[in-house]
Amino acid sequence: MACQYTRIMAKIIRAKRVQKSRVQALPKKPAKAVVKKSAAKPAKASPRPAAKKSPRPKPWTPAEVHEAFSRFRSANPGPKGELEHLNPYTLLVAVVLSAQATDAGVNRATRALFAVADTPQKMLALGEDTVRDYIKTIGLYRNKAKNVIALSAKLIADFGGEVPRTRAEIETLPGAGRKTANVVLNMAFGEHTMAVDTHVFRVGNRTGMAPGNNPLEVELGLEKVIPSEFMLHAHHWLILHGRYICLARKPRCDVCLISDLCRWPEKTV
Ligand code: SF4
Repeated sequence: MACQYTRIMAKIIRAKRVQKSRVQALPKKPAKAVVKKSAAKPAKASPRPAAKKSPRPKPWTPAEVHEAFSRFRSANPGPKGELEHLNPYTLLVAVVLSAQATDAGVNRATRALFAVADTPQKMLALGEDTVRDYIKTIGLYRNKAKNVIALSAKLIADFGGEVPRTRAEIETLPGAGRKTANVVLNMAFGEHTMAVDTHVFRVGNRTGMAPGNNPLEVELGLEKVIPSEFMLHAHHWLILHGRYICLARKPRCDVCLISDLCRWPEKTV
C-alpha cells in the first residue's frame, strides 16, 4: 500500500514539474499599469447585513388550540380521509400508492384493483405485472407495484395476512414509512397518531401551532399541543384545512375558520 502511494505521489510531482517548466517557458505578460494607491482607494467593504431569521411566532395557548379544533369539529364533526379503501389492507396499499400522487388519482386506479384483490393473498395471486397494469396511471407505478407485491408477501409470511397494529411493524413493510404507519394506525385502528403530509406540515408551520423544520418535528409538536379529545380526527381536519383553505400559493384567509388565531404574518385578513 505504502509503495503504491509513493508511486502515485511521484507521478503527481513529476506532472507538476512538467507543468511548471511549461509555464516558465511562456512569454511574460506585459506588466499591468500601476494604479496609484491614492487615486484608487479600495472601497471599504460594507459589513454584510446579518441574515434575518424570521422570529418564531408566539406559541399558541392551550385555550387557543382548543378553540381552533372546536371550530373544526363544529364545521365538520366526522371528517373522512379521501383515499378509498375496503379494509385495513386496502387502506395500507392505497396509502403506499399515494406517495407523490393525488388521492383522486390513486382512487381512479384502485377502484378496479381492489374489486379483484382486497387481501394480500389475492394481490399475490394477481402478480406484479397485472398489478402494474392496474396502477399504471399513478406516478412511480413500477416501483409501487413491486412494493405492493412485496408487502403482501411479508404480511402473509410475518403477520398472518393481517395488517400489524404497531408503527414499528408497519414500517418494516416495503414502501411503508412513518407517515403511512400513522395514517393506517389512525384510520384503521383509531390510534391517536398524527400523519404529517405536505398540507399538515404547511398548516403546522404557517399558523405557528407546531412549527418544525421537518415532518417529524411538526408531528411531535402537534401531538404535544392538541388535546386528546381531538386527536382521532385532528389529522383529517388539518389535511382538509391545508388542502382546501390554507392553500400553498393563495391561502383563502378570507374564509378561514381560524384566521384570528393564525400567527402567519402574511395572512390576508
Ligand atoms: S389565516 Fe390564512 S394562512 Fe392562516 S391558517 Fe387561515 S388560511 Fe392559512
